[in-house]
Amino acid sequence: MKKDILLLGAPGAGKGTQAKFLEKEYNLIKIDTGNIIRNTIKEATELGMQAKKYVEQGKLVPDELVINLIVNTAKQIKQQQKNFLLDGFPRNLQQAKALEENKLFLDLVIEIESSAENLIERISNRRLCTNKNCGGVFNLKSNKSKQENICDFCGSSLYQRDDDKEELIKTRFETYLKETLPLSEFYSKQNKLIKIDGNKDVEEVWESIKKYLSKN
Ligand SMILES: [Zn+2]
Repeated sequence: MKKDILLLGAPGAGKGTQAKFLEKEYNLIKIDTGNIIRNTIKEATELGMQAKKYVEQGKLVPDELVINLIVNTAKQIKQQQKNFLLDGFPRNLQQAKALEENKLFLDLVIEIESSAENLIERISNRRLCTNKNCGGVFNLKSNKSKQENICDFCGSSLYQRDDDKEELIKTRFETYLKETLPLSEFYSKQNKLIKIDGNKDVEEVWESIKKYLSKN
């Protein structure tokens, strides 16, 4: 499988877990916006210095700068003849078009669809690894860590994100739908979009994705 992929899904749809599976199974390189911003700041590149100004002031890094960082990273991956996995970018039409203007065309967009009830149940049970470099994600019901409150991957402790509390989940879900709808229409018109039922458990969702990829 040689494809550049974008994963779409509301917060709690299990994107992070499926991204890990995809990375591993198909040797994709995940483009993680947060990590890229942190790394370019560390490397003190020109873009990094620009980003640093915003981060230090606790401001959001502007869209244009984020686009530049992602485009640079994606191009480097392509130069190495490898494939990338985007998660959380593009999150709006403007960003999607910016990718194409830079001759970065996705091969496949996987949208994981889940109902609001399911998302609420999942997110409120979600526990994340405190080790930022690990990215381990667990669920008290559907994807328990082997040892309570301890990450299976790195042994760090787990925590619940502040905005994973129920009252905030609905707002995040509505924002997601509003932002993503134009995006999913954009890729659907290009025949690149597949929708996966995300109301099933983690393993079943993964099986559906793998099944699709083995046929296409
Ligand atoms: Zn961990």
